[in-house]
Amino acid sequence: MPEIAFVNGRFMPLAEATVSIEDRGFQFGDGVYEVIRTYGGRPFELEAHLARLDRSARALDLQQPYSHQQWRRHILDGIRRAAYPEAKVYLQITRGAAPRDHAYAADLSPTVVMTIRELHPLAAAVQAAGVEAMTVEDIRWGRCDVKSVNLLANVLARQQVKQAGLFEAVLVKGGQVSEGAVSNVMAVRNGVVITAPEGPRILSGVTRAVVLQIARLEGIPVEERYLPVSELYAADEVFLTGTTVEVLGVVRIDGKTIGNGKPGPVTRRLAARLGERTG
Ligand code: PLP
Repeated sequence: MPEIAFVNGRFMPLAEATVSIEDRGFQFGDGVYEVIRTYGGRPFELEAHLARLDRSARALDLQQPYSHQQWRRHILDGIRRAAYPEAKVYLQITRGAAPRDHAYAADLSPTVVMTIRELHPLAAAVQAAGVEAMTVEDIRWGRCDVKSVNLLANVLARQQVKQAGLFEAVLVKGGQVSEGAVSNVMAVRNGVVITAPEGPRILSGVTRAVVLQIARLEGIPVEERYLPVSELYAADEVFLTGTTVEVLGVVRIDGKTIGNGKPGPVTRRLAARLGERTG
């Protein structure tokens, strides 16, 4: 089966899928999205992703075209049709097509797109060794809790990271860590997991929520507060959480070694516990 897409209710080969050049997603970045992965062919935390899609759509006054039950049916159908060992499901809702005008009419039909691609998990050697990151000024807008397709600041940060040959950008605003460009960032100091609080400065990661819940169940204290960059450098451990990275140790930031330069015990424990839930 070639890579497949779903556009406004119809499945088709990805190469044949098109939307109007007047789509407001194309013109204005006026839309929202989700990325969901499967484990053993089953979508992980699907309800949490759909709930976040609802929140994002509501924040932009976007019509949510499907109920959770309808979304679930389309997503499971897509996963079955694509028949990959593991899949990455991308959902996108944009406000629809209309002659270009910043303000919009209330009766636009949203454009709904889903793609299903093969998910290639991170190599075990990368998980074991950890990755390197750099800090980048967080120049995003004031509603980072909305998973908007308007990702220019993230795009520029990711490009900087790519050109530097590193793995992720740690976004920093006013000297404090917000999150990664495509992940949430957590640090461990004296056995306490510290991560930025939910709110408009970060995307409330589905993986973040699962990992914090696991930490609490494991008796690992959690502090949700902004971490100054100086504390990040001085942390015993730093790790990223996200749908594709899962729990991934960061061993160098801006060329400074974190802890002993290897993914630490709390990172490895949380990664293992998450693996038990997904495996
Ligand atoms: N923060 C940002 C900016 C992201 O783009 C992502 C994922 O794409 C995350 C955090 C992690 O979210 P999740 O765990 O739901 O994948």
